[in-house]
Amino acid sequence: MVYTLVTSHAGHTIGGGARGCGYEESAVARQFNELLINEFKKVGQSVVDTTDNLGRTQSQNLANLVRNCNSHPKSGRLDISLHLNAGGGTGVEVLYYDQKELATQVSAAIAKTCSFKDRGAKQRKDLAILKGTNAPAILIELCFIDNVSDMRSLMSKMQEVARAIVEVITGKVSQKSKYIVTGGLNTDACRIFAEFMLSKKWYGKISFPGDATYGIGETGGLIGTALIEAEDFMKTHGWWYEVKEV
Ligand SMILES: [Zn+2]
Repeated sequence: MVYTLVTSHAGHTIGGGARGCGYEESAVARQFNELLINEFKKVGQSVVDTTDNLGRTQSQNLANLVRNCNSHPKSGRLDISLHLNAGGGTGVEVLYYDQKELATQVSAAIAKTCSFKDRGAKQRKDLAILKGTNAPAILIELCFIDNVSDMRSLMSKMQEVARAIVEVITGKVSQKSKYIVTGGLNTDACRIFAEFMLSKKWYGKISFPGDATYGIGETGGLIGTALIEAEDFMKTHGWWYEVKEV
């Protein structure tokens, strides 16, 4: 299935939803939503963020979410709602209205990535999002927010989980971000490296290990042409560098 548009949102009002292990559902879902949207963009999938940060009550939030989703043409659209479960269980499940196959696949992919128990696809015709949106929709309960080992696995593998979801939905795998590490830079070289990173508005870091008189430069995650540009910069200056996977 090729979707013309994917909409993705974090469930709940800001500060709303379940809590556990020191986490808030609405915050973790928002963090994950941003990652997921980025992963969709990386494979060229049209995607919009339909998260609602205006509703103050749960019913306002749900009404806003449904309206945000339905404000986009329904033909070829898929709506994704991101949540975390609570109540003492473990594992991932994906709720659906009529998207059983997709829900099953997404649940299995997340379970595999995080070594979660696969609770699988569950039909829920009563949920506001699933019944209110006028396009196919799935509601992902990523894992249990009140389960320490679930959360440890999710938080450490967020990027991979997002990639796995994108692969199921689009059939495409996004490129992994890479970063460049260089070393032995003298003060002038450090300045040149810093100026390059600033000119690109990229994240960069220069550190001086111990009492060393040289600096180690490091970029943030780069993909595609940005990575090529950064490598060209290193080559132009004849500096040693290494490309590492994030
Ligand atoms: Zn929720």
